[in-house]
Amino acid sequence: MPSSTPTIAGPDKAAEPGAPVPAGHIPLSVPNISGEEWTYVRECLDTGWVSSVGSFVDRFERELAAAVGAELAIATVNGTAALHVALLLAGVEAGDEVIVPSLTFIAPANAVRYTGAFPTFVDVDDRYWQIDPDSVEAFLRDGCSREGGTLRNRATGRRVRAMVVVDILGHPADLGRLHALATEYGIQVVEDATESLGASYEGKPLGSITPLTAFSFNGNKLLTTGGGGMLVTNDETLAKRARYLTTQAKIDPIEFVHGDVGYNYRLTNIQAAVGVAQLERLDEFVAIKRRIAARYREAVAPLQGVSFMPEAPWAKSACWLATIRLARDAASGSRDLLRTLGGAGIQARPLWQPLHLSPAHKASYSMPCPVATQLQEECLSIPCSTHLTEVEQERVINTLVEALSS
Ligand SMILES: *Cc1c(COP(=O)(O)O)cnc(C)c1O
Repeated sequence: MPSSTPTIAGPDKAAEPGAPVPAGHIPLSVPNISGEEWTYVRECLDTGWVSSVGSFVDRFERELAAAVGAELAIATVNGTAALHVALLLAGVEAGDEVIVPSLTFIAPANAVRYTGAFPTFVDVDDRYWQIDPDSVEAFLRDGCSREGGTLRNRATGRRVRAMVVVDILGHPADLGRLHALATEYGIQVVEDATESLGASYEGKPLGSITPLTAFSFNGNKLLTTGGGGMLVTNDETLAKRARYLTTQAKIDPIEFVHGDVGYNYRLTNIQAAVGVAQLERLDEFVAIKRRIAARYREAVAPLQGVSFMPEAPWAKSACWLATIRLARDAASGSRDLLRTLGGAGIQARPLWQPLHLSPAHKASYSMPCPVATQLQEECLSIPCSTHLTEVEQERVINTLVEALSS
């Protein structure tokens, strides 16, 4: 299954990234492999440069950094690995706590656990659905105390070291306020922009703002390498350390001397070749996603109790997923609509189970997260592949309007 869009509708083979789509079925969001991918992959195979070093890895890093306005980039096997390394570079240690929004795909919370630290969940905001600076502030101000320069969660006694700002669904979080809070309380920020490549905050591309920002090239993301990730930074020392940790912390490549317990987290040249080809189409893909979103927004506007994912005044969203929200006075509940669409061969998906309710993270501390719970009940993502045709989108819209006007 595409990792960040869990299904509750049972096995859906056609939803697999890259799997053939049955005639008449409209998938949620599938890869668009129609550029130079073949040419570049063939070059890897013909030259034998197939593994974790090669010119496409260097090129993918350089070009991705340039595309997001960062100086340096380190390619990784996936976005979760990029987050894990970013947390280590932020100084997160076993027994620490790291603030994570409750409403996100689970990867950032899991990456926190890989370091031995614990995620602390905060709510998202009702207007833009992103990590809520008010919830973060309430935790830092009322839930923590400072003891000899160390910020501690009063309830657990653990040191609060960092915050993972997740930009969900293609849309940037309120980075200005969140960075100001982090500075005020002396905690580090890692940005999980894995769902929001191509988006910008106050005119600045995501990747150029937070010193440690992670991206993903999983099969269902805006750009894909099959699987892959990237950590971007402007800091030479952090970049060097990231390169070291992602290559088994090797000090001497001839004598196999390793300075730490490192990780085998490097992307292969074959995957990077796909990435270089995909990256050539970033602007085009964002423009298509935004056009699809605009058409949905217009279509649902007249419907009672139905809204399309909003865009904040600070944001230019990449509109990675197209997500609608059905309030209590809508003609259909989100799960009924999910079944109606499914019956019409249209794939839709709810958002993720809020992490403060996740069995995987039941040992974690959490702020109250009513908005995360409500959004998960009310939201549904609908088809938005970059090669969705106008006719297909019309079919989705007609089905929606019929179900939601009754
Ligand atoms: C996709 C995703 C990741 C990274 O996923 P990988 O499959 O490891 O590349 C991390 N965080 C969020 C919010 C995601 O949606």
